[in-house]
Amino acid sequence: MGTNEFYRILNLIDGEWVEEKGVEYVPLTNPSTGETIGEVPRSSKETTLAAVESSYRAYDEWRNLPLSKRVGYLFEIRKTMETHEEELAVAIALDQAKHISEARGEVRRVIEIVESACGIPALIQGETLEMISPNINAKVIRQPLGVFGGIAPFNFPALVFGWFIPYAIGVGNTFVFKPSTQSPLFMQKMGMLLNEIGLPKGVVNIVHGNRSVPETWYDHPNISGVCLVGSTATAKKIAEACGRTGKRTMLLGGAKNYLVAMEDLQMDIFIENYLHSCYGSAGQRCLSGSIVAAVPEIYDQVVENIIEISKTVKIGDAFDPEVYMGPVISAEAKKKIEGYIELGIKEGANLVLDGRNPKVPVKNKNGYYVGPTIFTEVDPKMTIATDEIFGPVVSVVKINNLDEAIQLIREQEVGNGACIFTQNLYYTEKFISDANAGMVGVNVGVCAPHPYLPFGGIKDSLVGTDKVQGKDGINFFTQNKIATVRFAPPTGRFRDEEGKKLKAAPESKDVRSCVAS
Ligand code: NAD
Repeated sequence: MGTNEFYRILNLIDGEWVEEKGVEYVPLTNPSTGETIGEVPRSSKETTLAAVESSYRAYDEWRNLPLSKRVGYLFEIRKTMETHEEELAVAIALDQAKHISEARGEVRRVIEIVESACGIPALIQGETLEMISPNINAKVIRQPLGVFGGIAPFNFPALVFGWFIPYAIGVGNTFVFKPSTQSPLFMQKMGMLLNEIGLPKGVVNIVHGNRSVPETWYDHPNISGVCLVGSTATAKKIAEACGRTGKRTMLLGGAKNYLVAMEDLQMDIFIENYLHSCYGSAGQRCLSGSIVAAVPEIYDQVVENIIEISKTVKIGDAFDPEVYMGPVISAEAKKKIEGYIELGIKEGANLVLDGRNPKVPVKNKNGYYVGPTIFTEVDPKMTIATDEIFGPVVSVVKINNLDEAIQLIREQEVGNGACIFTQNLYYTEKFISDANAGMVGVNVGVCAPHPYLPFGGIKDSLVGTDKVQGKDGINFFTQNKIATVRFAPPTGRFRDEEGKKLKAAPESKDVRSCVAS
């Protein structure tokens, strides 16, 4: 993939690249320059149904492959991703436009996730209970369910592939994947790699389009479950639709994350993490810090330092090695973020750094840029402190103490991440225990868990209960079955000495009790 190509996005159906005909195509832009670099089909219902059908056909053979063979494909996916690591990163930097260094980081993280999924033979193991009654054993086995549908947000096209597909197919399911129309290039490349390693056709199908693609899944008899990473509003709509038809769901939603600055923080560590947390991916990250809550002893110093460091952030093309922060995803997103900046001013917050109309190189003048923006004196009830702005806009709130920070985090409707900066053991443990967010960090700005551990928020950041990665990923993509096995011959229990059948007798109760309920 290169910067001068035009990408007419294709669907991967049953192992073949298929061009969608007779449907609307939406333009694909490079947010760094605003140029149209391709077009993405709004795939038809027929195509979506063909994808489900293909995955359904592939399911039986795939789930019955010896485990080592199935996991062998995961090893191959890992290997090919590593071989094509740079091309995959370029695909992300091109249409999603996070800076190429961050795009490389995203691909690297997905390789680690695939590695963790290679441990499925250990993770999927069941349980056994011997002699629950004389000559009767019980076991719990984990089995795949069938075909899953998955929907990705625009901001992490690779990561969400990693969260869904290696786990889903590793345990024996097949998968239909719908990328975001704003960042489809990673999956175009990934689909080619899946074909190249010889992944059996239908195990992964890719269908591009808008919400009409997943809408065909909710009452489809051959879809066993639906997963989404996206906004809370989308997650709730899917939960409602799938609730009606009883499909299982894994739905990760939106966020608004606090960075709490205590009086004993190490300023260098805080500032370094602040930069990465608030301006990484131009603030378009579900674990981005977007509210800094500082205690009075350190408030002025924190404000002074974050303004100073933010002024050094170089904004520009995602491929420019000198640049720290790339653009936001679209003209619409830029307008929305600028709208929030205007709202913050109207709400009475103090705009100390205005990121509107930042200076960028001439070739990027039509790109979608918003520079680091900081509001101080923010009341936590203001809209800028409660809505997910999804851009490089930070609200600074003054808090009196740790309890107040914890209370503010509790009052949020969402609860994805929350971080504290301190050296104090009491603050640390109190925060871990009481901050009401699904992922917490101490002296880190992006509290993303390692691939072996679950990833997901609480409250409105997670609609339902299932999280991605690790054992949680395994639980979601499998169902357990409990088997009760008698292994003794019946002779002598139900027949008398002449071999005639006995009638029901009180002494047979022990047999009934062990299988009763
Ligand atoms: P979005 O909800 O607008 O779209 C996400 C995906 O859902 C897209 O593929 C879109 O086409 C599809 N979609 C939109 N409406 C739909 C509907 N009614 N039914 C079915 N599918 C629908 O989100 P986005 O703007 O692409 O991504 C940003 C959001 O994702 C933010 O809220 C961010 O916090 C969230 N996110 C969360 C996590 C997490 O781990 N919790 C990670 C990444 C992104």
